[in-house]
Amino acid sequence: MPKQELTLRVPASCRPRSEDQKQRAFSESVEEYVEGIFRLQKEVDSVSTGEIATYMQVSAGSASTMVKKLAEMGLAEHSPYQGIRLTEFGEKVAKQLTRAHRILERFLVDELDLPWDDVHELACKLEHYLSEDVIDKMDTKLGHPTTCPHGNPVDPDAPDPSFRLQAAPVGKLKVFRISDERVEFLRRLDDLGLRPGSEFEATGSTPVDKLIHLKIGDQTHTVGNEIARHLWVVLA
Ligand SMILES: [Zn+2]
Repeated sequence: MPKQELTLRVPASCRPRSEDQKQRAFSESVEEYVEGIFRLQKEVDSVSTGEIATYMQVSAGSASTMVKKLAEMGLAEHSPYQGIRLTEFGEKVAKQLTRAHRILERFLVDELDLPWDDVHELACKLEHYLSEDVIDKMDTKLGHPTTCPHGNPVDPDAPDPSFRLQAAPVGKLKVFRISDERVEFLRRLDDLGLRPGSEFEATGSTPVDKLIHLKIGDQTHTVGNEIARHLWVVLA
């Protein structure tokens, strides 16, 4: 589909004002950045250009150019003390994209039987091309799911009782959500038997490197920082 045929999916109430009318349709890359900054804002207190560059896997120069563009479009603002933050309008766009992403993942897994560990990238692409009406129809067809297949909430404002594995006490835990949805990461968790809803036990950690020992079923495993950071758990 040619890009110029795309229409903005945000509701009229949160569209840019008349002076911004020529920018009513956002490009895929603008939307990806808005979504990326939204995720980073939940991870760190103050988002820097460097963090955006790392997260988006681009050069610092490209990230900085895009941040300026987002500011011109009224989607983000950059202040010396608070770093880069989405504006209220930017957050509305991000929440809508996040919802579309998570409903699409559910659709791909529940209706099309695609593997749960390999739908994130496809959803990343599709989310820019489907109208809100189509996403709403999928949501209804799916029976209004509350989370994506990785446990992340369809409503980004839903209360989140979970904490990172690295902050968990020793004892019985349950996987609540997984914040890194890359296929290689999810495949590793799948191999370990860790999916949203899986129960396991944290049995201790090493004094150096903080590797965490887990008992999953009758197997013992030791996991490192990436899993400790991106596996969000609750007490079982
Ligand atoms: Zn997901």
